[in-house]
Amino acid sequence: MQLEFLGTGAGSPSKQRNVASVALRLLEERNAIWLFDVGEATQHQILHTTIRPRKIEKIFITHLHGDHIFGLPGLLSSRSFQGGTEPLTIYGPVGIKRFVQAALQVSESRLSYPLHFVELTDDGEIFNDHGFRVIARKLDHKIACFGYRVEEADHPGELQVEKLREQNVPSGPIYGQLKAGKTVTLPDGRILDGHDYIGKPQAGRIVTILGDTRQTKNAIRLAENADVLVHESTFAKDETKMARSYYHSTSKQAAEVAKQAGVKKLLLTHISARYTGKAAYQLAYQVRNIIPDTRVVNDFDVIDIPFKK
Ligand SMILES: [Zn+2]
Repeated sequence: MQLEFLGTGAGSPSKQRNVASVALRLLEERNAIWLFDVGEATQHQILHTTIRPRKIEKIFITHLHGDHIFGLPGLLSSRSFQGGTEPLTIYGPVGIKRFVQAALQVSESRLSYPLHFVELTDDGEIFNDHGFRVIARKLDHKIACFGYRVEEADHPGELQVEKLREQNVPSGPIYGQLKAGKTVTLPDGRILDGHDYIGKPQAGRIVTILGDTRQTKNAIRLAENADVLVHESTFAKDETKMARSYYHSTSKQAAEVAKQAGVKKLLLTHISARYTGKAAYQLAYQVRNIIPDTRVVNDFDVIDIPFKK
């Protein structure tokens, strides 16, 4: 599981940063890519990565501002042109369906795969397939905007093969039964309980990706105990008034949300073109007293999300 940033800029593209999009790479977990926001030219950014559009299974849109959705029609069409046949689901605020359908209809684009929409009106669980669960909550932006919390299901413990070998338990179908937690009788009469040979379950990972927002309680709820929080930082530490009037956050507010949610890893994105080079990295440095593991992400950064130890 990794996050791959495809666009980390705010508002309009710059030479350094494209507009918003981040991929959650779930190739090992479910052979899929999930995208969060699709700013203009996201498909061009994807060309510089190993992501294959046909692997994109779900797209989560935070809000309908252009810098978060203008890349959708092109990406959807190219996915079709490249022969994608797997269904794709788009989640987002009411209006996302109308936007995409209008663009496809007017341009007479036909897709080679089924396209589904889930328009969100309220807080709550929006997806659950026992491998992953996604929760959306409203944020505080100028237009309807949602944040997303992705929860991976816990992984069952591994079968302790070494221990079985030490006890001279012959390998074979018995191992599968033990792994399933069953009690088995060996040919030599010994009775083994599978539970004695299964390691500790591994807690699933939690990734929280927020859209544009002022500081709000729902951000903290979405981020609670997450392994990583992706938060906008359109403004610097002391620009609280500006952030408020433009419905955005400062780096400090992002760090406070992480702190209150118990998050240790904070990734700042949606970086204004006013901050280039070192000035951008300052956004992270100035809040490391709150969250030491804070960084400003750049386009094409790949951040691994390991299991908790
Ligand atoms: Zn934006």
